Amino acid sequence: MSSTMRGEAPGPKILPFGARAGPAALKIDNYSRARGTGGVPRGSPKMGSEYGLFIDGTWTTPPKATRFETTNPATGETVGTFVAGTADDVRRATEAAARAFPSWRETPAPKRGEVLLEVARRMRAAKSELGRLVTREMGKVISEGLGDVQEAIDFVEYMAGEGRRLFGETVPSELRSKFCLTVRQPKGVVACITPWNFPTAIPNWKIAAALVTGNTVVFKPASATARCAAEIVQLYADAGVPPGVLNLVTGAGGTVGNALVDDPHVRTVSFTGGVDTGREVYVRGAQGLKMVHLELGGKNPVIVMDDADLPLALEGVLFGAFGTAGQRCTATSRLVLHEKVFERFLGMLVDRLDRFLVGDPLDPATGMGPVASLDQERKILAYIEVGKKEAKLRYGGEKLTGGAYDRGHFVRPTIFETKHGTRISKEEIFGPVLSVIRVGSYEEAVRVANDVDYGLSSSIYTRDVNLAFRAIQDLEAGITYVNAPTIGAEVQLPFGGVKNTGNGGREAGSAAVEEFTEIKTVFVDFSSRLQKAQIDSETAA
Ligand code: NAD
Repeated sequence: MSSTMRGEAPGPKILPFGARAGPAALKIDNYSRARGTGGVPRGSPKMGSEYGLFIDGTWTTPPKATRFETTNPATGETVGTFVAGTADDVRRATEAAARAFPSWRETPAPKRGEVLLEVARRMRAAKSELGRLVTREMGKVISEGLGDVQEAIDFVEYMAGEGRRLFGETVPSELRSKFCLTVRQPKGVVACITPWNFPTAIPNWKIAAALVTGNTVVFKPASATARCAAEIVQLYADAGVPPGVLNLVTGAGGTVGNALVDDPHVRTVSFTGGVDTGREVYVRGAQGLKMVHLELGGKNPVIVMDDADLPLALEGVLFGAFGTAGQRCTATSRLVLHEKVFERFLGMLVDRLDRFLVGDPLDPATGMGPVASLDQERKILAYIEVGKKEAKLRYGGEKLTGGAYDRGHFVRPTIFETKHGTRISKEEIFGPVLSVIRVGSYEEAVRVANDVDYGLSSSIYTRDVNLAFRAIQDLEAGITYVNAPTIGAEVQLPFGGVKNTGNGGREAGSAAVEEFTEIKTVFVDFSSRLQKAQIDSETAA
């Protein structure tokens, strides 16, 4: 497979994917044609690879619409072209969602769950095509592209079950002949704004949770992965989601995103993205006193103690740091390494990277594909230049060029040895760049791990059970792994972070229901007389 290695610089062996004409064309058109007839939307999602907006159950292209395209970051090929939505388009979408809301909220929740089960079934049937589309549009390797879709399927199935579990509480009254309970109610029109790094999983986390709880949705995906978004929306429509319940408006964050957050129909904004955008969305949403749920960045540490199982930790750090080319909010971007194993472990890491294949993400042998876009490439390379000035480069540190690499955005996996406190050790890079920080004790490791603005994921490798439990208690993060990498969320558990990673909400698990429901408190007095809480309670005994 990798006999033609490019060995000009110290670094990983490179997969010679230039030998290939390019990734095989995705057969998504066939799968789209094979759609069933239940709940078939009016219109077509696309003409060739041209996609419209999906509003009120119809694919539409507004007159005089301007278009943008998405490209394969490995090859530069066009993946699709999309409408750059306007504030008017957003208004039409939110109006459609508001019109659809009364009927959808009255649809019994188990029935809404059944529609989601059908979505999951169709997504499973389309998994391999969708996985390839994720890889083509975003660049993660094919196993991770398929994993992205699997996570979406898992979550939609999980949420389908929530349709039979939207529990409230029954609570005792302080008065006689009085019954107190809570019920969950949908919020109304929900805006779901998503990033490009999990182009099927993250939208489904939001959409499935919002729909099963009875809300209607306007979905604004990241522009870089608009085709994944369009195909997902089509699946929901095919599965029987009624017109207006799920709408898609593609386009720029500053136009479509702002209009959505400002829109008076929208009561809740569920946002995943960068911290600067999240802050802007939060401030804007506050003007309308909206609930704004934020899932933002991370600077996630793995602590490797001197008693750790080093080969196990090695696999975890590699996957955590360079999986999805480091473009996960939970990516391992800091290795907090005990001084007693420092050189040994770093040596193992560098040695392993020498056999780590970077190249065609559709080839199952590839360890890491391209970064997602030219913007990503520029940002990551700029951070690498910062790192070269403030830290010691131990591996990589450059763009990959020559042959097929010149068609895409390939960055060599990069390792810096750095003191804690440098920019590269504290700022989110969101790329395949690992900062390694030497520490002398558990206490120092935790101090370093916690001394960043973010708090999403964290991990410790140790064989000491007491240290493991101390770390669970001490690490300031929404997620802590023991003897596992910082990535690996499962949909039945809550997901989210502390500090600048968010504003307190959680996605996934049953916690996702909280985000999309209001709690109504109900008092039923069957005493047939006026009873006064707090006032009559002393005489109620
Ligand atoms: P981004 O903030 O640039 O964009 C996210 C989304 O917001 C996109 O759809 C974008 O078009 C939209 N947007 C941009 N400006 C907007 C505005 N003014 N109003 C409303 N929407 C606007 O983020 P990105 O580059 O797509 O994603 C990378 C970031 O996402 C990283 O920081 C990563 O850590 C974070 N992320 C967090 C999680 C999590 O669950 N915590 C998961 C994945 C990614």
